[in-house]
Amino acid sequence: MFCFQCQETAKNQGCTINGMCGKKGSTANLQDLSVDAMVAMVMKAGETAVTTMAALDQANT
Ligand code: SF4
Repeated sequence: MFCFQCQETAKNQGCTINGMCGKKGSTANLQDLSVDAMVAMVMKAGETAVTTMAALDQANT
């Protein structure tokens, strides 16, 4: 287990055995995956917005 998802983390370095909050490693892993998926989704949305804006710009010139 490794979790560094909050300010209560062990020794300010990361919970490695069990979470100081009681969280298990499997939960920490799923939360990391969830955040990774959200970051990827936002990056894709940003790319789509840029592409769309460029296409609209092109269409209006
Ligand atoms: S296991 Fe809990 S206390 Fe430890 S860093 Fe993650 S969220 Fe914070």
